[in-house]
Amino acid sequence: MKLGIVGLPNVGKSTLFNAITQAGAESANYPFCTIEPNVGVVAVPDHRLEKLKEIYNSEKIIPAVIEFYDIAGLVRGASKGEGLGNKFLSHIREVEAIVHVVRCFEDSNIVHVDGSVDPIRDIETINLELIFSDIETLERRMERTKKAARSGDKNANQEMVFMEKLKAHLENSKPARTLEMTDDERDILKQLFLLTSKPVIYAANLSEDDIVNGYENNIYLNKVIEFASSEESQVIPICAKIEEEISALEDDEKQAFLEDYGLEESGLNRLIKASYKLLGLMSFLTAGPKEVRAWTIKIGTKAPQAGGKIHSDIERGFIRAEVISFDVLVKCGSEAAAKEKGLYRLEGKDYIMQDGDVVFFRFNV
Ligand code: GDP
Repeated sequence: MKLGIVGLPNVGKSTLFNAITQAGAESANYPFCTIEPNVGVVAVPDHRLEKLKEIYNSEKIIPAVIEFYDIAGLVRGASKGEGLGNKFLSHIREVEAIVHVVRCFEDSNIVHVDGSVDPIRDIETINLELIFSDIETLERRMERTKKAARSGDKNANQEMVFMEKLKAHLENSKPARTLEMTDDERDILKQLFLLTSKPVIYAANLSEDDIVNGYENNIYLNKVIEFASSEESQVIPICAKIEEEISALEDDEKQAFLEDYGLEESGLNRLIKASYKLLGLMSFLTAGPKEVRAWTIKIGTKAPQAGGKIHSDIERGFIRAEVISFDVLVKCGSEAAAKEKGLYRLEGKDYIMQDGDVVFFRFNV
């Protein structure tokens, strides 16, 4: 799963990205991830893995991960090629969701590109660049669809009706994700690969003071929350600077640091969890003496396809899955005890995986 971090210059993107790379999952465990300077791979926090490690006396834990892409350099005029505009826009095309960092902290030492702190103006600046780029993409597509309609393609007519509606929506400065649409229309939208159809989380970057003294009254944050709720997006309040400090600490120091600030968990963890949820993802688990591991799947995935995440042979030769939910396994205390009680379920190819299923796949090679 890939997320892109965007935002105007000087809002705290690099600081947040540093926190992500420092907190980063050990890359040795992730040979499948290409680690580039602008990519940070982090573990999805999951307390169940430690517990399974105890139960199975496993050598190691391999958590699920998500990848964050630092998409710096998006400025006003990017869609017209300002800065390295088009290059950055093409990076956004490759991610599944967007983390939009907005500055909600005052600091006279840190220049704001537009002269003052105003998160809604900032959000609209970035959103407009993405919308402009989408209008161009859409217009090109409409040219082609028009031709297809003229040569008698019936679907093309239906597509044109939707695309006209979408174009008017974009020209109204609204992102594609906020347009109401039918399931058929949503299918058409998917094929357009628009930037503004991707889900967004707004990361409201606060000052250290706000974290210490409470941020309920931060007017900037409250404006962002109001804006985000109008488009059903989520806001994660965060202090990038504190996150950068936390991620540099060892695990035991981390806990003490969080307690000093009166925090239950790091903002980064909240951001990761929110991203996972936003994309409709969940984890199933595998466990044994060698390793316990969390695997990411979309909610609603069936057993063979879930097995396919581990190896394509499992999907191809799927026989059945032996499944027990994490909670039941913990109650039993061990795999043997659970088996004795007959609590392992044998599930077939239509079984829909549940979050926290501990699974063993049986398959023909
Ligand atoms: P970017 O251009 O969006 O990548 O912004 P940076 O991460 O480089 O941050 C710009 C400046 O703001 C740097 O001097 C950071 O130290 C500072 N900064 C970033 N996050 C925070 C924060 O949460 N609080 C404060 N006070 N300063 C921050």
